[in-house]
Amino acid sequence: AADRPDPVPTPAARRTTDREPAPTAAPDTSPLATAQSQLARAVDILGYDTGLHAMLATPRREMRVAVPLRRDDGRTEVFTGYRVQHNISRGPGKGGLRYAPGVDLDEVRALAMWMTWKCALVDVPYGGAKGGVTIDPDEHSRAELERVTRRYTSEIMPIIGPERDIMAPDIGTDEQTMAWVMDTYSVNRGFTIPAVTTGKPLAVGGSLGRATATSQGVVHTARAALARDGVGLSEVTAAVQGFGKVGSHTARLLHEEGTRVLAVSDAHGGVHRGDGLDVPALLAHVARTGTVAGFADADPIDNRGLLTLDVDLLVPAAVEGVLDGETAQQVKARWVVEGANGPTTDAGDRVLTERGVVVVPDILANAGGVVVSYFEWVQANQAYWWTEQEIAQRLEHRMLASHDAVATLAQAEGVTLRDAALTIGVRRVAEAHQIRGLYP
Ligand code: GLU
Repeated sequence: AADRPDPVPTPAARRTTDREPAPTAAPDTSPLATAQSQLARAVDILGYDTGLHAMLATPRREMRVAVPLRRDDGRTEVFTGYRVQHNISRGPGKGGLRYAPGVDLDEVRALAMWMTWKCALVDVPYGGAKGGVTIDPDEHSRAELERVTRRYTSEIMPIIGPERDIMAPDIGTDEQTMAWVMDTYSVNRGFTIPAVTTGKPLAVGGSLGRATATSQGVVHTARAALARDGVGLSEVTAAVQGFGKVGSHTARLLHEEGTRVLAVSDAHGGVHRGDGLDVPALLAHVARTGTVAGFADADPIDNRGLLTLDVDLLVPAAVEGVLDGETAQQVKARWVVEGANGPTTDAGDRVLTERGVVVVPDILANAGGVVVSYFEWVQANQAYWWTEQEIAQRLEHRMLASHDAVATLAQAEGVTLRDAALTIGVRRVAEAHQIRGLYP
């Protein structure tokens, strides 16, 4: 990231605000509306014209595919899949694959756009992409999920590849899914191509440290944000929303740092304990039952109760849009560190800012995942594997350097951490567009 200094926008550039608000900034709270209005703010700060704004706002390529599935009982059902390459100017598309019942094209567009700014912010040589299939993975057997994954992969084959677009896990998918994608792609090409996905199992070219990288990055940025106020992680209490690939490791790592984790939740419910949860015991409970709900020695808590709990540090690590204007009014945390993509709506963001809550934005806080994805891709391309320690050190360095660049710009310009992070990311992508020029 931030091995390279970012010049702050000049006052002249920032003064160019006397034009109509972008037509894309719709007054709704959908992920795409949030992503578009964040971009509009960054464009405004940077003083870009409407043409460049349109270039940055418009996905380069979108693919929508039918995914027919032969169910285990012999019936056929047809699902819909998407892959959106929001930007490919700095390198191949990069981003996760989501399986969830609510996935639609607009959500995938928003998630792809956030990947673009995230990759640029932490300076990995990628654009941004995202994929999704509108399916509830809990309703399907492992065999059905394998068939869905293989068919989806073969449908989008023409636009993916190690130098085109590289997939990774997201909500509803995991390292096994990435192994199936990699295998399907490789079998069709006729040889093994590990670098087409990241977040793979170690046995087929995954990287040490990838499974915990997003959470590790959340903890690094949380530590750095607290340190700016002279506070240490061992002095604070925390609540974590979501107990999947990001939330569960975040809760564990915070607990190991000495943070008292008072509450966690997942899709089935939440648990709360005033003097701190026994996180290792909770992890054992989840390994047994599949959910945090029902954990002994804790009281149940609902999602709103968790988000508005009296804690110092709040980590939304589940889905988009949970911190809306209304919920944000009730947030008691002093720091919000966004493990999820897009957990805060525009209105929520304004309220948190007015109330003096420090928000470490998603494109910075959860970038550890894509940083180690990049390391995995580099290792696969070179067929040479790094040690866990090398990966951990490089991740920490990149997260802290990125955090410093964002915090320094925010302070210098008097803007939020989110606007500073977006400004850095958007400017790097715009620079790539401008230097490459427009063809023809
Ligand atoms: N799905 C993750 C994210 O939203 C990881 C993406 C990747 O590693 O490509 O950042």
